[in-house]
Amino acid sequence: MSAFIEEKLEEILPTVSKPARYVGGELNCVYKDHADVDVKWAVAFPDAYEIGMSNLALSIVSHVINSRDDAVAERVYAPWPDMEQAMRAHGVPLYTLESKTPVADFDFFAFSLSYELSYTNVLAMLDLAGMPVRAADRDAGRPGGGAWPLVIAGGHCTFNPEPMAPFIDLFVIGEGEEILHEIIDTWKAARGLPREELLLRMAQIRGLYVPRFYESRVSDRTDPSYSCPDPRFAEADRRLFQAVVPARQEVPPRVVRRLVWDVENVPYPTKPIIPFIEVVHDRISLEVMRGCTRGCRFCQAGMITRPVREKSPRRLMELARQLVRSTGHEDISLVSL
Ligand code: SF4
Repeated sequence: MSAFIEEKLEEILPTVSKPARYVGGELNCVYKDHADVDVKWAVAFPDAYEIGMSNLALSIVSHVINSRDDAVAERVYAPWPDMEQAMRAHGVPLYTLESKTPVADFDFFAFSLSYELSYTNVLAMLDLAGMPVRAADRDAGRPGGGAWPLVIAGGHCTFNPEPMAPFIDLFVIGEGEEILHEIIDTWKAARGLPREELLLRMAQIRGLYVPRFYESRVSDRTDPSYSCPDPRFAEADRRLFQAVVPARQEVPPRVVRRLVWDVENVPYPTKPIIPFIEVVHDRISLEVMRGCTRGCRFCQAGMITRPVREKSPRRLMELARQLVRSTGHEDISLVSL
């Protein structure tokens, strides 16, 4: 815990809107002593607390990591502009809600990317954490010594990772419950290696895309229809994009989506954190299935979560009872995708 951050929060919080967004301490929070674990994850949703607290994926990721004795996951959300301004004015870096530890002191800084409009928040959060925003600029390590956290992203947006590739070290393509364990085990086995070597080992994990080891292949032909009224892009590269291909022979030529087949027994957070303030989904979220039977061609979620996999009614009743007992909520959302 950072005494500096705690002290500054006493000063800042009375001056910002909804200070409960920034204090942690909610019912069902998981606390672990950082000295007792090998791997520390700051798990972030790049939007306001009320939206991030309603995100089931983030809750599942935290649950999977915290279920291990050797790892801890703590939460981070994008501060509202008034809080961001106050943090910058007082020199307070982005910190995790559970232990008030600066995000830059973690081993992983993980983002859930659900929609493209959150991308600028990702960059703002990296900057507020005091970290170089571009992945390549993090190779040199921290000025006082030590490595920057590995910045990792998952979620539906990673199916088109290239717009964020300059800023993210690792993309999880697909579902995370199983691959998270492989990432942690690989990191533990490779800790202390130079960042490039560590990332090369990570790139061997099925479903992990490490953009620095791939490059865009473009055609010799140019797009004659290209025109942009903005003079800044008048000289833009007009060659036609063909594919993303390996730039190193050690990495897989194609990154394959991860899929969890056994959704019946997949780990599920039965003690979700109960916020002090009203959030977007102020109720239990119970995932009944993954995928969608409809297959509408325009639907990103319907396509990338294929095939349909359902939990049994018996399992759903069991989870619902546990969730009602641990939260006190009286409403349940049956969710999918
Ligand atoms: S979730 Fe997507 S695929 Fe399923 S019905 Fe809705 S739009 Fe169609």
